[in-house]
Amino acid sequence: MQFTCDRCGKVIKGQRYIVKIHIFADFDGTIDVDENIDIDEIIRKTDGIPSSILEEEIHKEFTFSLCQRCKEIFSANPLNKILENMDVPDKIPPTE
Ligand SMILES: [Zn+2]
Repeated sequence: MQFTCDRCGKVIKGQRYIVKIHIFADFDGTIDVDENIDIDEIIRKTDGIPSSILEEEIHKEFTFSLCQRCKEIFSANPLNKILENMDVPDKIPPTE
């Protein structure tokens, strides 16, 4: 079976790595009840919105296949933060 890296698009020739990202709303087990909430208004506002979109507000999962090099790049900066005060080369040599 042949796999393609979801990051660089190349066929994975060595070890394949799976990245699973699980995003979920933080919940401490309690719900603050606001007595001023208008349930009918919430129902009107969400009417017609597919349940899958509403569910994505509280839970979403992603799964990606990565080649070894893309796994290293992803692991080094998974949140794709701006790297300040670092001299990053324009091109990273292949590991092979
Ligand atoms: Zn790759």
